[in-house]
Amino acid sequence: MERKGILLFSGGLDSLLAAQVLINQNIPLKAYNFMLPYEKENYNPENSAIAHYASHLNLDLTFVQCGEDYIDMLRNPAHGYGKNVNPCIDCKIFFLKKAKEILVDTDAAFIATGEVNGQRPMSQRKDMINHIEKAAGLQRMILRPLSARFFKPTIAEERGLVNREALLDIHGRSRKIQMELAEKYGFTDYATPAGGCLLTDPFYAHRTHELFEHSDRITQRDLYLLRLGRHFRITPSIKAIVARNAEETQTLLKTKSHNDTLFSTRFQGPAILVPGITELTDQQKMIVAALAARYGKPGDSDNDRLISVFEGSTEQTIIAKTVNNKEIEALKI
Ligand code: SF4
Repeated sequence: MERKGILLFSGGLDSLLAAQVLINQNIPLKAYNFMLPYEKENYNPENSAIAHYASHLNLDLTFVQCGEDYIDMLRNPAHGYGKNVNPCIDCKIFFLKKAKEILVDTDAAFIATGEVNGQRPMSQRKDMINHIEKAAGLQRMILRPLSARFFKPTIAEERGLVNREALLDIHGRSRKIQMELAEKYGFTDYATPAGGCLLTDPFYAHRTHELFEHSDRITQRDLYLLRLGRHFRITPSIKAIVARNAEETQTLLKTKSHNDTLFSTRFQGPAILVPGITELTDQQKMIVAALAARYGKPGDSDNDRLISVFEGSTEQTIIAKTVNNKEIEALKI
């Protein structure tokens, strides 16, 4: 066991302060940020705000993309969801188990987190923190520099690799001490608590639950697509994603794969992606075309209502007919 630690780094103030407390003891740290699988595939976080916060502290940061195993957990979290689709307890256990693998590989002395005793009603209650630690198989290996005095000494502290006296005793929901420390250490820029986790967003959660109901196999791309556009369920297995603006139209055009169908208006209107489907019936195509007419500005003549439909690698032109708004609203997710 070497005198070095692994830090779970979210970019939030607590993780910055946890790093600072350990840096003050000259403990070498290797930081990890676990990216949830709702980012675009091939997303490059190297220029993200989190990378910027890490460089401010001279932290050696590695991004880890959570994949299928996270999605499996998200679908059926053993401890259930928080208010939205956030499986916070299982999510923490998941991160810690990943960190444990790194700990074993690198012979680090501990895993550090920015957790504060009592800060969140569920996942940062002391009994829950201890439960999470046990479930991850990391008893007395997790160091919480901001709240260490509320927990039994870790093995690293007992072995004198970390000076317990220099660790903090912050607890509760007030952020006063953290704000004072932020000022002391010149942290003016940091992520909000929960780091803007999309799983805590009610709108995103609604779409995710709806997707779970209709699909047995969900990929990172599916979760990414939930972030874009307006969604309409055409049949239990067919969904249309309507771009909300020119930027989303460009994104959907770039996102189309050979397994998708894309509707591109020849009038001023949104692109529409039907992911994972290349054999729509004529009737289904007319419904999707009607969505394009509803959210676009087609003209009155047939020529001003044309839509190109790219189904896999074939192209077809159809004319959008108007459908009444009630029918459209009934399909909205
Ligand atoms: S807020 Fe999001 S990232 Fe944080 S523990 Fe909950 S699910 Fe995981």
